[in-house]
Amino acid sequence: MHIAGPMFAGAISQQTRQKQAPLAQSLHFASNARKDLTSADITSFSKEVPSRPKRSSDQLAVFFAGPAPYVYKGVTITCDDAKKRQIMEQGIDIALNAGHSLAGLKMYVTPKYDKELKSHEFGFFRKDKGDIIFRSNVDWKETADGEAAKYPVWANNTYAGRPVHLVLHELAHFLHHKKNAASYNQANNTSFNTATKQLLTNALGHPYPAQNPAELIAEMFPRKSVGRDNFIARANQLYETYDGP
Ligand SMILES: [Zn+2]
Repeated sequence: MHIAGPMFAGAISQQTRQKQAPLAQSLHFASNARKDLTSADITSFSKEVPSRPKRSSDQLAVFFAGPAPYVYKGVTITCDDAKKRQIMEQGIDIALNAGHSLAGLKMYVTPKYDKELKSHEFGFFRKDKGDIIFRSNVDWKETADGEAAKYPVWANNTYAGRPVHLVLHELAHFLHHKKNAASYNQANNTSFNTATKQLLTNALGHPYPAQNPAELIAEMFPRKSVGRDNFIARANQLYETYDGP
């Protein structure tokens, strides 16, 4: 057997592929691992971060290198940005004024330098930990005349296009899970059939709430929390069926 040029080139390109695969995998793992952090990760908040992260374990260390937490009306907040703290507190006030209890909830905002943590989510609720994590590298600015305000689902919503809507969205997941964990799980793991998905997308003006019942509830909650129930009957019915907060 002789080693031809193309074969050798092939060997290199395979080696390159092998080098690339773990990188893609590690980004994938990093994205999933975030949702499965131990309490030790949480308590390592004050640890110093040595350098720019390259691996998922380092990313998690950076992720939890934050400022000291403080308690606002029963909710423990960890965030190094005054404006974001104010927006989270506003969301807490709205939910409390609507009669909900947020006792025991923890909310975190990732540090500014967490850009290695790729995610399309603004934030996420971790049901196993009972906490909410927000990313700092998304637009927390008021966007009243921006994208969000265009969609009917947010129309007539005091908080349309404002970051507090997104805070309320995550609070809805927390409250939904607290109110009825079984329903929350079911809602999260259910997809609407094509007809319902189409109906909700058309009525609400955006495909996101039609993704699954859990997201539908979370997107309806900000408006409902200020007593505005002017959704289509089917949406309200689903909200009730899945025992939304
Ligand atoms: Zn959501």
